[in-house]
Amino acid sequence: MRIDLHTHSSASDGTDPPAAVMRQARAAGLDVVALTDHDTVDGHDEALRELPPGLTFVPGMELSCRLDGHSVHMLAYLFDPASPGLAAQVQRIRHDRVRRAEDMVARLAELGTGVTWEEVTALAGGGVVGRPHIARALAAAGVVDEPSEAFTKEWIGMGGRAYVGRYALPPAEAIALVRAAGGVAVLAHPRAGRDSWLVPDDVIATLAGDGLAGIEIRHPDQEDPERARLQDLAAQLGLVATGGSDDHGTLTGHRIGGETAAPEAYEQLVERASGAVPVRA
Ligand code: AMP
Ligand code: ZN
Ligand code: FE
Ligand code: FE
Repeated sequence: MRIDLHTHSSASDGTDPPAAVMRQARAAGLDVVALTDHDTVDGHDEALRELPPGLTFVPGMELSCRLDGHSVHMLAYLFDPASPGLAAQVQRIRHDRVRRAEDMVARLAELGTGVTWEEVTALAGGGVVGRPHIARALAAAGVVDEPSEAFTKEWIGMGGRAYVGRYALPPAEAIALVRAAGGVAVLAHPRAGRDSWLVPDDVIATLAGDGLAGIEIRHPDQEDPERARLQDLAAQLGLVATGGSDDHGTLTGHRIGGETAAPEAYEQLVERASGAVPVRA
């Protein structure tokens, strides 16, 4: 059984519509796929409507969190999206993403890039707006060659000239909200390196005490030595070790199915969740 528990669609900052992501999942030989868009479940209906035969869909989301000024991502699975506490916070995050993207575009205008709000919203196409949409607009304007090159101090990387922060949840609160919605919470790519924060062992231990169900170990940005350390930590803390591709379509180069979770890990998450069930076409 091949299982990818981390993918994005155009409902947030992936480039492909949810139905296309599902087709690609099946074409990549997956049996189970989770759609985990940033701060939204808007892609779930379309994914379910057009689920290819033989593929099992796991409803998910990647929640924007912040701890001690660092960005942290929390994967959530099999929760009830109508749970009031979770729904209210997710809506608040999305609202502030719009405010923040407008502020970033204003700064980019002051810097003479010529990127407009109309272009950014067109690229977001009604989905949850994020820096990748701004990065794509910068690439389209010829300011950078590739969207990934916009994530620097010069432009919209953390602390960059046009970077603006936004509202995010404390991870402990995200875990509590997901659990109250019957879901399970998995800490996304805790050691992805590059310019992201390496979540220390003691922080992961504290989150385990807060009700974290698992940590994402197999992720394209996590190297083997780090995976080995995380595997030991997961065993010590009784956390489920998961994996996924973090596919964003053409934004980062298609990679769906490139990283997978073990069947036992997936089964443990399903067993612990009560807010929703996986759907098989
Ligand atoms: P935001 O949540 O709006 O601050 O945007 C952060 C998102 O940008 C991450 O979740 C990634 O999907 C994406 N991202 C971060 N760094 C890069 C990069 N170097 N190239 C492409 N996408 C990136
Ligand atoms: Zn993303
Ligand atoms: Fe992430
Ligand atoms: Fe992601």
